[in-house]
Amino acid sequence: MRWEPIVKSENTRKASNLGDYERARREFTWEQARSALSGLPRTRGLNIAYEAVDRHAFGESARACALRWIDKHDEVTRISYGELRELTNRFANVLHDLGITGGERVYTLLGRIPALYVSVLGTLKAGGVVAPLFSAFGPEPVAERLRIGEGAVLVTTPRLYRNKISQVRAGLPHLRHVLLVGEGEAQPGTVRLEDALAHASPTYEIAATAPEDAALLHFTSGTTGSPKGAVHVHDAVVAHHATAYYGLDLRPDDVFWCTADPGWVTGTSYGIVAPLTHGATLVSDEGEFDARRWYRVLSEQRVTVWYTAPTALRMLMRHGSEPASRYDLSALRYVASVGEPLNPEVVVWAQDALGMPVHDNWWQTETGAIMISNFPGEEVRPGSMGRPLPGIEAGLLERGDDGRARVDQGRVREMPGADAEGELALRPGWPSMFRGYLHDDARYAASFADGWYLTGDIAARDADGYYWFVGRADDVIKSAGHLVGPFEVESALMEHPAVAEVGVIGKPDPVAGERVKAFVSLRSGHQPSEELRGELLAFSRRRLGAVAPKELAFDDDLPHTRSGKVMRRLLRSRELGLPEGDLSTLERT
Ligand code: AMP
Repeated sequence: MRWEPIVKSENTRKASNLGDYERARREFTWEQARSALSGLPRTRGLNIAYEAVDRHAFGESARACALRWIDKHDEVTRISYGELRELTNRFANVLHDLGITGGERVYTLLGRIPALYVSVLGTLKAGGVVAPLFSAFGPEPVAERLRIGEGAVLVTTPRLYRNKISQVRAGLPHLRHVLLVGEGEAQPGTVRLEDALAHASPTYEIAATAPEDAALLHFTSGTTGSPKGAVHVHDAVVAHHATAYYGLDLRPDDVFWCTADPGWVTGTSYGIVAPLTHGATLVSDEGEFDARRWYRVLSEQRVTVWYTAPTALRMLMRHGSEPASRYDLSALRYVASVGEPLNPEVVVWAQDALGMPVHDNWWQTETGAIMISNFPGEEVRPGSMGRPLPGIEAGLLERGDDGRARVDQGRVREMPGADAEGELALRPGWPSMFRGYLHDDARYAASFADGWYLTGDIAARDADGYYWFVGRADDVIKSAGHLVGPFEVESALMEHPAVAEVGVIGKPDPVAGERVKAFVSLRSGHQPSEELRGELLAFSRRRLGAVAPKELAFDDDLPHTRSGKVMRRLLRSRELGLPEGDLSTLERT
């Protein structure tokens, strides 16, 4: 069923940054988008932190508020652009004093606290590469990512260090320095960030980075193998800035709240960089999701543009529209969402509860910025991800038996016209396109075919060019907006002595989108029991943290392909009572 489109007035369209969609697409060039930024004054290079902070940190705008941080106890701290410039200079000097050189990787394992913004932007100033980690990960995913990226510095808190790093640190020879921020006892082999910042100089000349120098390393998961480290360069800031302008309608006088966790790509591209490049005020809330708290933040902070995620919106929707009416949301003018399918009911609920629809948009770690979006002045089609941004060419490619785009002698076939369905693909060339998977050229090369970047998503397109999400073309799971690689979960469970083999799937969940479920076959001598189930769930939770399975079933007859791999697709179809599809590769015993 298709829902009624939500039509905007001609005035809304005229007042939006995008204006007329077709015209904006016709006239847009990345060169012109680049000219909206400043570039480094002396070296004519490009540095994300200069665009985000320093260019606003002189004259009048130095006093403008860059960050409004709400701590867990509702205390609000304001940091101006001038202050942020000085703090990030100090951080860059700390790295310099520690002997960190350009291109080395600095990891953050932090929640939403001011040190996060200072570390990320300070590292970029120093020419380092920032690798943000999800602080709800358990010790194994954290250590694995630090190993792959050969992290030289980690910024974290005493509690996270004690729980996730201290026991794995011996296996991380590249990790030379750990900077701890916030309360907690001192730990051997670490430095207190507050002390280091206090002793560092507040002046710093930003490293002369070039547009193609590496700046960000974001980890993402595939179906098989270890996590992939997607590398982004300083030029990405051109896309962060332009896509926030068109897709989020962002302006310098906005109060912008992005609720994404800082460990995932949205938390950097839009949770830090894009709003600051626009000179807007960034709201950051240390607290976790809580319906009343979130309405209060929107109301008390007078948030104008809100970028959030479907799971959170579904949790708000559970309480209906009434709670929203108790808060003054009159400052709010635009709401957008990303990360997982946004059901049409939520778009329509928001129309009632917030007085405006949610604007869904689509992108992924590899694309670095929004690619497909519903726009402020354009009709919103509930359930659709919208249309490609200016500067972005999308297409749908015919799929083969494995569900991915069919590549025949290097060629793919584009599905033409209306009501097409296929693997969503993009023509490379936008500035925030990833430049590689770290140490994994083969996987990078496999992401392209015939001049297209293959996204791994299946989508449909209607007659007016709106894209509709259909599903993943692979086995990757999206749970509460977090991308979970089944292989990583399976590998962790395989370490338990009772486990012979594991298959992990995503099972639909009304709030989280998908929940992780594991099917386990046991080694001989072990019997299924409730006690063992509990033990295995706890075992994986200790290792993996928030991405561990929520459900576990024993299955001594896991289906295999002829090449011996567990057939997750079949496990999923059986679990959901769906047709079992093409079983030609199933091993029959
Ligand atoms: P990540 O790389 O972790 O940001 O995850 C990217 C994936 O999330 C995409 O490839 C999609 O599968 C999913 N995704 C992102 N945005 C949307 C959306 N608006 N609708 C449906 N799925 C989405």
